Amino acid sequence: MNVLLVGCGFTSTLTAFLLRSKYPNIHLTLWDKARGPGGRASVRRGPNETFVDLGTQFITTNNSIISKYSVIYNMLISSNNLVPMMCKVIGMRESPDDKHFIAPNGTSSVVKYLLDNSKVNDIKFGRRICTILPTGNVKCIDGYEQTFDLIIITNPIPQILELECPILQTGVLYYIKNQYR
Ligand SMILES: Cc1cc2nc3c(=O)[nH]c(=O)nc-3n(C[C@H](O)[C@H](O)[C@H](O)COP(=O)(O)OP(=O)(O)OC[C@H]3O[C@@H](n4cnc5c(N)ncnc54)[C@H](O)[C@@H]3O)c2cc1C
Repeated sequence: MNVLLVGCGFTSTLTAFLLRSKYPNIHLTLWDKARGPGGRASVRRGPNETFVDLGTQFITTNNSIISKYSVIYNMLISSNNLVPMMCKVIGMRESPDDKHFIAPNGTSSVVKYLLDNSKVNDIKFGRRICTILPTGNVKCIDGYEQTFDLIIITNPIPQILELECPILQTGVLYYIKNQYR
C-alpha cells in the first residue's frame, strides 16, 4: 500500500512511526511545504548551541497515556529526547495527574527522532500540495503529481481549507469547513 503523509510535524511523524510499527512493508511517502521537519514544533537555534522553542514548549500527559503508549514514551525518554519538566509555569491550569515534559534539544528534535525511526521511504521538503482528487491523485503547486492508496493530511484546518479537495464537500470536513467560515 502506498501512503502519503502530508506535513512533517508531531502528528505526521507519530502516525508514520505507528504505521511503520504495525505494517513494516507499507510504502510511506511524506511531503511538507516547509524546508525541514518540525511544523509548529519550531526551534530557532543561536550561537554556542543555544536555542529557543518558538512553538511547542512543553508536552503534557498523564500516567494512563504514558502506560498506553509506553513504547513511544520509553523510547523518547531513554534517548533523552524528552525529560521531565522541573519548573512551574505561573497560571497554568493543572490536574493532579498531569505530567509535563520538555525536549532538552528543542521540540523539533522529537519530531526528527520520530521521523528517523519511521523509515519513511520517500521524504520531500519544499513540496506544497494544492489538490487532492477522489481518485487518490495529489497535485503540488510545482506541477508534480502522484497517486496514492491512502492520504493522511495533518495540516492545520485553515491550511486544509486552502486545498482544492472535492472530498471536503462531504462528511466531517464539510462540517469543519462551514464552522470556520
Ligand atoms: C506559539 C505556539 C506555542 C505552542 N505551545 C505548545 C506547548 O507548549 N505544548 C503543546 O502541547 N502544544 C503547543 N503548541 C501547539 C503545538 O505546537 C501543535 O499542536 C503541534 O505542533 C501540531 O502538530 P501537527 O503535526 O498536528 O501540525 P503542524 O506542526 O502544524 O504540522 C503540519 C505541517 O503541514 C505542513 N503543511 C501545511 N500545508 C501544507 C501543504 N499544502 N502541503 C504540504 N505541507 C503542508 C506544514 O508546513 C506543517 O509542517 C503551540 C503552538 C504554537 C504556535
